[in-house]
Amino acid sequence: MAVTRRMHVVEDPRFRDHVAPDGHPEKPARLLAVGEAISQWDAHAPGSLERLQPRAATDEEILAVHSAEHLRSIETAVKSAPGRLDADTYVSPASFDVARLAAGSCVDLSLRIASGEIDRAFAALRPPGHHAEADRAMGFCLFNGVAIAARALQQQAGIDRILILDWDVHHGNGTQHSFEGDRDILYVSTHQFPFYPGTGAAGEAGTGEGIGSTLNIPMPPGCGDYEYIAVFQHLFAPAALEFDPDFILVSCGFDAHETDPLGSMGITRTGYFAMTQIVREVAETACNGRLAFILEGGYAAQGLAEGTLSVLEGMLQDDPESLLSNRLEIPDGSNLADIVRAVRDVHSGHYSGIA
Ligand SMILES: [Zn+2]
Repeated sequence: MAVTRRMHVVEDPRFRDHVAPDGHPEKPARLLAVGEAISQWDAHAPGSLERLQPRAATDEEILAVHSAEHLRSIETAVKSAPGRLDADTYVSPASFDVARLAAGSCVDLSLRIASGEIDRAFAALRPPGHHAEADRAMGFCLFNGVAIAARALQQQAGIDRILILDWDVHHGNGTQHSFEGDRDILYVSTHQFPFYPGTGAAGEAGTGEGIGSTLNIPMPPGCGDYEYIAVFQHLFAPAALEFDPDFILVSCGFDAHETDPLGSMGITRTGYFAMTQIVREVAETACNGRLAFILEGGYAAQGLAEGTLSVLEGMLQDDPESLLSNRLEIPDGSNLADIVRAVRDVHSGHYSGIA
């Protein structure tokens, strides 16, 4: 296959040094599944991928999102590792260094895209980040890499308006809370609801000056490609284009895949491919294609592999068809109609394109 575009990929064996307790789903082998998919794409379209070496986040970068107490608590916890920070979240001896490397990768690839050095990127890293709050680890997450990257873009690259799309099956409570009062950062999340971590109702729409800049799209269990593609077309894309970001970060979990053991959704390779195409179309329209995908969750090898291949294919294919000009219908009385109505009820006054 002839592929003329290029994409940068962050992969590093050190991300497997955050060692999971037996039976824990957030385990190093997840990245072997992602790595095999990247190799498969490499063989399919030689020369289309280039590697980026990750770097660790600085204290200053982490402290733009997290408290000093939180940073030091992770550093301290690894000294007596292995251990747990809550019922779900563990540390092994290398976890502080690995989590700094993951957060630094998010910052580094974002700054390189912002400077024009590279065009687009996918980071295959762990631990994930979107549940990490300013002052505590949570839900397998130690530092919130996407939130840290967003602040670094503002502070180090002068990029003001940032869109964070979180398509992980779980709501990114940490990311929402980091930016809910900030009108320059739009956080859009599709997630199974009600579900862990309990946040993410449609009515959570931001606070103070940031009202309208949190756009939650809660979805009942059992949603698949049709529902996801439709909400991307009818809710995400119009709001994103109206917000008009200068940069898009994707919290890219693959745990809404049909095979995932934690999520109860039914996205297939086709769905992730279409979702990627829509995000790409929005990025190319709004911000010269400045777009970075950061791995969050995803606990089935097949889901991680198919999701990764879909993102690479969706980003790299030449001359994609427009999925924004040809939208799926919303059947009356469907789950989809209920999902869309709940979001419109909250946000039609903020975004005329979704009214
Ligand atoms: Zn998740």
